[in-house]
Amino acid sequence: MLKKQALNVMANRASLQASNANASMNLLNAKNGLVVEPPLSFYFIYYGDFSATSVDGQTPALVKQYIQDSSNTPYLNTVSQYTSGTTGKPTTTTIYYAGASFITGYPYGKVLATTTDTCVANIVKSAINSFNIPLNTNTQYYLITSSDVSFSTAVCDDTNNACGYHTFFPKYNNVEQVLYGWIGSDQGGCFVNGPYNGPANTVVNVFSHEVFETLTDPYIDAWNNQKGNEIGDLCNFNFGSNQLDSKISTSGGKYNIILNGHEYLVQLEWSNLVADCVLFTNFTGTTPPTAVSASPAVLPSLVPGVSQSGSNAPLVFPSNDPSLSTGASQTQTLQPRASQSVNPTLSTFPSLNPTTGVCVSCFEPICRSYKRIQKLCQTTLQGTFTLTNSTSLSVAAKTCCTNMKNPSASFHWIQTGIPNCEYGGIPTKKLLWCEALGGHVTCDDSLAATNGVKYTCNRS
Ligand SMILES: [Zn+2]
Repeated sequence: MLKKQALNVMANRASLQASNANASMNLLNAKNGLVVEPPLSFYFIYYGDFSATSVDGQTPALVKQYIQDSSNTPYLNTVSQYTSGTTGKPTTTTIYYAGASFITGYPYGKVLATTTDTCVANIVKSAINSFNIPLNTNTQYYLITSSDVSFSTAVCDDTNNACGYHTFFPKYNNVEQVLYGWIGSDQGGCFVNGPYNGPANTVVNVFSHEVFETLTDPYIDAWNNQKGNEIGDLCNFNFGSNQLDSKISTSGGKYNIILNGHEYLVQLEWSNLVADCVLFTNFTGTTPPTAVSASPAVLPSLVPGVSQSGSNAPLVFPSNDPSLSTGASQTQTLQPRASQSVNPTLSTFPSLNPTTGVCVSCFEPICRSYKRIQKLCQTTLQGTFTLTNSTSLSVAAKTCCTNMKNPSASFHWIQTGIPNCEYGGIPTKKLLWCEALGGHVTCDDSLAATNGVKYTCNRS
């Protein structure tokens, strides 16, 4: 979490630094939690106007560049002093840019969190589904909102007056511990006067804060101190004393580090080794250092089981839940990830596999449901769905979503061999199917005498 500070960050620098030289502030892994040990990828969901000529137009490219420039540098290496409580392994210093999707046209309006659907967590979830973004535990999914987007506190106060935050879903779409976060482009309390024009400086600085924190405290049970402050919080808006006027800004911005030849203004991070905020662990100089990447981050393989060749090549990956596989392995070809840009609408859906012509007929009002079902069908359930009437559902393996019709109302099914509702769990596939349709499953014991239970998917 990075709290807003309505401060002149330059003027406030000295007092922050003075208060930081204090070993009692050191981070503790009191709960023995895990750090991020394997390389971490970042995927971005941009909401709002990030078009090239907009005020936020530089942000997507700069965020990508920052990741590629900082991976495996002495700068990012500050995190490696922090180890996992259980394994003792150090935090990774390898990070990757995985891609971005853009939600344009303000489909949720310019004030978010006015409904449950527009809370950060739910925007992230629905974007993952709508864009078919591959989901795995080694990627963090960030919602980044443009500077004309604000948040209500009426429904969910999930930005908490912050500049950004990192957190995780304990489980989503059958993937455990999915990391996500949010960053605003706020030019008020979060503003930094960096080397680039526009809010990109602010987003990159906030992102740097969240990257260091996510790596060292991904599940909020590893490296934080007794006040809950993490590696970035202890040095929030502290940029050190080595700032120079930028060579590239037209607005008089500053920079304090050069990564792979590019200027950045990024906050310091807490180092237990020296009990102070550092730009990187061994840096004690007064001019902006150059921390060249030893091995520039490239992304030959996004996640285990995923292969990519060429910048816009399709991703191919197997189901992330082998237990749901019904036969020989099946792969799905998704849209290119790196340049994916889809404006979601309720009436059009991309054909996911143009080669084989897989496509689904979709009629209102089921299109909204279909967007959720699409991912389930193709990546999780691996089957064809044919809902022939309100009471029967067939799931056939190995072909995908060639036919789907909307159940007009609630439907039910009988599960035999289960003595009562408390004994048996709901069959996973049908539970997912029901939830994808916006329903919820109930169970009743009216058939207990025949050793069966009745599940109903209520869609009202
Ligand atoms: Zn923080």
